[in-house]
Amino acid sequence: MSDSVLECLTAVESARLASTARTMLRLTVEERQWLDAGFRSTAGTPQLDFALGLSGIMTAQAVGSKILGDSELKACALSIHCAILRDAELDALANSISGFGAAHGLTGVLWSVHQAGLICGVSGLDRDVIEECLLAALSAWQTGHQWDVVSGAAGGLNAAHSFGIPATAQGLRILEGACQASLGSGSALDIGMAHGLAGLVAVLARGGRCRPEVLRASVAFLESNARSDGSRGVFPSEAGSSRVARSKFGWCYGDLSVCYALAMAATVLEDYDLLNRVCIYLRSSLDDRGPANEGVRTLGICHGLAGGAHMLLRLWQLTRFPFLADEARRWMLGLCDACERVEPDGMSLIYGRSGVALSLLGALGQTNWDAPLGMGYPLSGLSG
Ligand SMILES: [Zn+2]
Repeated sequence: MSDSVLECLTAVESARLASTARTMLRLTVEERQWLDAGFRSTAGTPQLDFALGLSGIMTAQAVGSKILGDSELKACALSIHCAILRDAELDALANSISGFGAAHGLTGVLWSVHQAGLICGVSGLDRDVIEECLLAALSAWQTGHQWDVVSGAAGGLNAAHSFGIPATAQGLRILEGACQASLGSGSALDIGMAHGLAGLVAVLARGGRCRPEVLRASVAFLESNARSDGSRGVFPSEAGSSRVARSKFGWCYGDLSVCYALAMAATVLEDYDLLNRVCIYLRSSLDDRGPANEGVRTLGICHGLAGGAHMLLRLWQLTRFPFLADEARRWMLGLCDACERVEPDGMSLIYGRSGVALSLLGALGQTNWDAPLGMGYPLSGLSG
C-alpha cells in the first residue's frame, strides 16, 4: 500500500477539503470547556474512548494541526491530552475503560494518547506502561471471547501492532482460532468490518505471520456471500441470514468493508486474481449507488458519506485502481457539499465532525488515525 495522497484533486478542490476540515474541527468555547473538563457523561465519568469520546476528538485535532499547519488545533489537542492523562491515572487506566477493543476500549485510548503526543511533540506514554496495560488486557480478554474490531481483540491488536508489542504474535494465534471457529460455526455470521469477519481478516492480513490457509479459507467464505442481483449491494451485513436489507456503504458494514478485507488479503497473498475480482465487486457496487451516492444518508465515518469517502481512498491506496481515485475525489467533494447543508451528529470520531474532518484530511496528507478501526498498512509477510 502506498501512502500518497489523492493526486487527482485540483488545487482549488484541495483548498475546499482543507477549509471544510478546518470548519469541522473548530470548536466553540462551550465545547472547549466541556473537553477541558473531561467530556463527562451524565454519570460524571470522563468519556475517554476513541469512537465516541475524548481520545478520538484529540486524534482529529492533532492530525488536523499537522496537515493544516494550525496552531490552534494543536493547542486543543494538547489540552485534551492533558485532560486524559489527568483523569486516567495510568495505573488505573485499565480499570477505567471497559474492554480491550480499540474503538471503545483500552487500546484505542493508549494508541491515540501516544500518537497525538508524537504529533504534538510532547512525550506520549511510557512504553513499559503501554506494554503492561496491553498484556493485562490481553490476559483478561482470553476468557471473554470477544474478537471483533470495535470491542474485542481484533481492534486492540491492530492498534497494538503500531507499538510493536510482543503480545501481538500470541494475539494473532488467538484471532486465527476465532476465524476458524467462526467459519465452522454454521450459524449466521456478521461479515462486516466493525463486528465481523471482514475486520478479523483485515487485521490478520495486516499483522503478518498469519497462516495463509486461514486467510484463504476466510476469503473463500466472504466471497461465497457475494450477491449477483445488484440491487442491494454485493455483500450483505450478515452471512446465512434471511434479512434482505440493502447493505451499508462505509466503514462498518457492506461492500467497502468486505472489499477492503479482500484487498488486504490479496495483497499479502499476492493473489492477483482475487484483486481483479475485488475490482469487479467495487465497480458493481459503485454503479448500484449511482452518481448521487444513493442510500447513504448520514455524514459520519461509520456508514455515512465520510465513511464511503475514506474507504474509497484507502482502497485506492491499497489497490491503485485508477477509478477508485476518481470515486474517492467525487465522494470527498460530495461530503464537502453535504457539510454545507447538514450539521454532522456531534463532535465524535465515529459519527460526528471529528470523523468527517479525518476523512477529508486523509486526502491531503499521510494519516494513520484509523488503526483502532482495524485499518492500516500491511506490516510484514506471512508465516508461509
Ligand atoms: Zn455504521
